[in-house]
Amino acid sequence: MTQTDAAAIERFLHQALFYCLQPVLLVIVISCWYLDPTREETYLLVIIFVQLVLGFAEQYFSARPAWLISTKEKIRNVALVVVLTMSALAVTELYQAWLSSPLDAVRVSIGLDIWPQDWPLLVQLFMVFFLSELLWYWMHRAEHRWNLVWRLSGHGSHHSFKKLGALNFGLNHPVEYFFIVLPSFLVELTFGVGTAALGAAILTVTQTSIAHANIVSNTRLIGLLFTTGKYHICHHSAVLKESNTNYGCSAIIWDRLFGTFLDKTIDEAGTGPTEPTLWEKFLMPFKEPGDTTIAPGTSEVGI
Ligand SMILES: [Zn+2]
Repeated sequence: MTQTDAAAIERFLHQALFYCLQPVLLVIVISCWYLDPTREETYLLVIIFVQLVLGFAEQYFSARPAWLISTKEKIRNVALVVVLTMSALAVTELYQAWLSSPLDAVRVSIGLDIWPQDWPLLVQLFMVFFLSELLWYWMHRAEHRWNLVWRLSGHGSHHSFKKLGALNFGLNHPVEYFFIVLPSFLVELTFGVGTAALGAAILTVTQTSIAHANIVSNTRLIGLLFTTGKYHICHHSAVLKESNTNYGCSAIIWDRLFGTFLDKTIDEAGTGPTEPTLWEKFLMPFKEPGDTTIAPGTSEVGI
């Protein structure tokens, strides 16, 4: 193979990834769920599959080579994501035990048993997905608006990374899972959703992985409804005005509707000029790093 051929193949692969990676991944994971919509194992298998694909794409076609992390850092992040994903599942179990019966009773008593169970499953899937994202949009916006909510949720830990990659989808403070899990849980139980809830969770985790990935991808058409990497990385900016935008981690439509959408390439991610240590990230609900630029109440007023 000549050098010209190799360059042409590389160009083709870049173009294919740019236009196809996000839509193809979404189609694959939704199809996997649709083949057996009640199979809970699909959720964890999808996380592994999506992370492997995005990890490969980041390594060979990274948008910002300076954001590639060392093997040691990657192993640490994988270990953290495994532990934190287990925490998220434990929080889901807790909510199930605490809220399931009361919300069931409320739904029945006020006649909210209106979920269209007989509609096509794919329609139900997108209904749950966009409704859950609407709740998350306001919760996430509250985290960035009020310092008390920012601290209580430990959201600063998630923003403290100077280098972003697909694994950052699961690098949140353990206490934040009480916030992250809540929207889909409320939608599921308030309306008695059923099978489509698992599909929506799978779509959400895929979208949040793509949104954090260090890859260049197309934002036209797909970016009208769904969050793309460029949009979410803008939210991770170390500049307050850029950070207080694009609150939808999976669906961008609510930012477009509520006036917080921004399409901009940022210079620097993080909570400030330096990245806190792992221990400092863990302590962020109690002690904010001195050089933070995006925590609410520490600089100009946010949106
Ligand atoms: Zn945020």
